[in-house]
Amino acid sequence: MPGTNLTRDEAATRAALLDVTSYDVALDLTTGDTTFASVTTLEFTCREPGSSTFADLVAPTVRDITLNGRTLDPATAYVDSRIALDDLEATNTLVVTADCAYSNTGEGLHRFVDPVDDRVYLYSQFEVPDARRVFTTFEQPDLKSVFTFTVTAPSHWVVVSNAPTPEPTPAGDGVAVWSFPTTKRMSTYITAIVAGEYHGEFDTYDGKFGTIPLGHYCRQSLKEHMDTAELVKLTKQSFEFFEEQFDYPYPFGKYDQLYVPEYNAGAMENAGCVTLRDEYLPRSRQPRSFFEFRASVITHEMAHMWFGDLVTMKWWDDLWLNESFAEWACYWCEANATEFDDAWTGFANARKQTGYRADQLPSTHPIAADNVDLHAVEVNFDMITYAKGASVLKQLVAWVGIEPFLEGLRTYFKDWEYGNPEFKDLLATLEKASGRELDSWAQEWLQTAGVNTLAPAFELAEDGTYSSFAVAQSAHPDWPTLRRHRLGIGLYDDVDGRLVRRDYLEIDVEGDRTEVPELVRVKQPALLLLNDEDHAYAKIRLDERSLATAISDLSTFEDSLPRAIVWGAAWDMTRDGEMRTRDWVDLVLANIGQESDAWAVTRIPASTALAVSFYSDPAHRPELKATWEAGLRELMLAAEPGSDHQLTFARSFAGAAHSDAALDDLIHLLDGSFTVEGLAMDQDMRWVLITALAKSGRFGDAEIDAELEVDKTISGKEQAAAARASQPTAEAKEAAWAAIVDPTTPNETSREIAFSIFRFGQEDVLEPYLEKFLTASETLVDVLGFHKASTVLEYGFPRPLGSEATLARLDEWLATSDAPKQAKRYIGEARAEIARALTAQAYDAS
Ligand SMILES: [Zn+2]
Repeated sequence: MPGTNLTRDEAATRAALLDVTSYDVALDLTTGDTTFASVTTLEFTCREPGSSTFADLVAPTVRDITLNGRTLDPATAYVDSRIALDDLEATNTLVVTADCAYSNTGEGLHRFVDPVDDRVYLYSQFEVPDARRVFTTFEQPDLKSVFTFTVTAPSHWVVVSNAPTPEPTPAGDGVAVWSFPTTKRMSTYITAIVAGEYHGEFDTYDGKFGTIPLGHYCRQSLKEHMDTAELVKLTKQSFEFFEEQFDYPYPFGKYDQLYVPEYNAGAMENAGCVTLRDEYLPRSRQPRSFFEFRASVITHEMAHMWFGDLVTMKWWDDLWLNESFAEWACYWCEANATEFDDAWTGFANARKQTGYRADQLPSTHPIAADNVDLHAVEVNFDMITYAKGASVLKQLVAWVGIEPFLEGLRTYFKDWEYGNPEFKDLLATLEKASGRELDSWAQEWLQTAGVNTLAPAFELAEDGTYSSFAVAQSAHPDWPTLRRHRLGIGLYDDVDGRLVRRDYLEIDVEGDRTEVPELVRVKQPALLLLNDEDHAYAKIRLDERSLATAISDLSTFEDSLPRAIVWGAAWDMTRDGEMRTRDWVDLVLANIGQESDAWAVTRIPASTALAVSFYSDPAHRPELKATWEAGLRELMLAAEPGSDHQLTFARSFAGAAHSDAALDDLIHLLDGSFTVEGLAMDQDMRWVLITALAKSGRFGDAEIDAELEVDKTISGKEQAAAARASQPTAEAKEAAWAAIVDPTTPNETSREIAFSIFRFGQEDVLEPYLEKFLTASETLVDVLGFHKASTVLEYGFPRPLGSEATLARLDEWLATSDAPKQAKRYIGEARAEIARALTAQAYDAS
């Protein structure tokens, strides 16, 4: 949408001029299916009477604007999503009446009608600049204020916001009015309205600072799947942990968690009114990694109540800090306060890998991005923000020590409550608490991009001891910074068939070579592991002997964390073309059956599926695909009945199935003539099998339609759309592509199709889509809105067309196209992934 940007300078100017006294927001949700009425009364003071500023609003119709009793003509005062305000007084009252639009993109106020029962559900999503799609705002985080919401809605609805839900007042004709109490001081982007026929369940948390009412909400059609007791347990454990560690009472009175449909992200930290995607309430069997992840989301959002909501960044430059902190804190809380006490292993196996991946793409950027305006925020909000940021905070905690780190945090929350500090303020507090100089640390870790590689460099004496030992550090030539690392080194020996840690030391690594005198004259172990304990954020290399030990004995590590480091190193070497793809597949098939970490069990087969299709030598690929398919079938049959391993291997086997015999297996699993003890054929598993059969051409629209008759839920509709898109016909691809570029396709449906349309092995019907994709990318952001377009651009590229010719075409396009930054960014990433795959393919062929 044109004219929705806001620069950092404009925001700073406005913040210097104004203080916002209060917002009074009246919403009428009974005016139709496409728009709702929004009346905002904004009270604010101005330091320079007579001067001008502007308020923000994105609305199809602005009916009335009054400033200090003066009527402003919307036709001239409302331009480019801004309301021009001139001749300000010392104290001001602005009243704006508008019709705002419901969205189907998950931005602003999203409206959803449940296909199962036609019930209506609304929820807001405002980060980064979208509160202005629902009411008139000063849309920047440092103009905090108090908010009083009044909502008119059908009287049988539930309405939830940041302040406790009041008793509604009947207003006749089946309509009622909810007059919410005034909130605490907060930023616009964490305000929220959730309304509709939600089902709610209630509890309370009694903690060291008092009682917090807890609400859990979901759609009526999901209430049988809301495992409220489990969610309440996690919520209470997290509150107890954070209130104790932060030594500061939860600031927002009550705490509601609302599971909402067609949600773009995982969740959002609206103060006291957290929204989460309702796929987290599973209707079918899910593995432990699913629940471990959900727990991390719950704790992540709760951490934001202090870090983000109570104390908020001044401008989006520090968005990285907001997210990195919540990411770090969620794993820290999970590991210490919940049943997921091995959460850091899961972090190493899953989340951290997404940071390494993002940091090796051409779009990488320093963690602390220079967000000069809202467009820059959009481009810089990614896995560098979340996963690398959290990894680097983990390294910072190792660098200063957990106790000084916490001491600094506690001071920070008290000093800056309800305020807007900057990163330098946190750094100053941490320096004071730890006594360590952190400016230069921040410079090398936060202001520069790229990941270092750490490798052992040693010589051996005749008696098998190290005669010298050093850690060699290198960097990619495009991102040449070498950094300081707090690094663990583990020495593992084979003891009665187990890999057991003989010794562990921690050192500070600096520069391109760090001598480790402690290891001289120490006997070389079977496996030497750099970054044992996973404090560091770095790519790790194994020496020849250690790699051989890893390949033969990986599953015999006593602990899951060093195993995760080795899995990560081997995967990284495969991606870098330093380990043959077929050797990676052998490593996985030989060890994944015994893996104990939930995240490793789910993530590694998924990575391997990509490697088999994309990183393998094309000449050897048919053989490798057969090995992978047979290996997964064997793993599925050998797994303990009803285990997560069995579930994951069954899903992976369906994805890998391509031989006639394997596809027959899938059909027989569906019709019940082939059963695997303990493997439930629940609704989600049925869709996995149906999609796999559709992808291979065994099933068509008839079978998909028949399943949709049985499963008329929104999940069913989304899964059916994905299955249709996966069919290997030109017609199916055309229909799927038309749905992707159609703005009326809801966000989650569009996402499922984007994930499913371009399949490896279907290259003959995908051929037109490279050019179609490049052409569409020029306008996609305008046509679909930011979030939907980003999903298509990031995940919907026709990767199976990856070849030297495609690379050449992309180079030409990137050099000449005028497409938006966002489009060029993702296409640049696709180009880099293809180049990486071709390198891996070449190595696999060697
Ligand atoms: Zn967050």
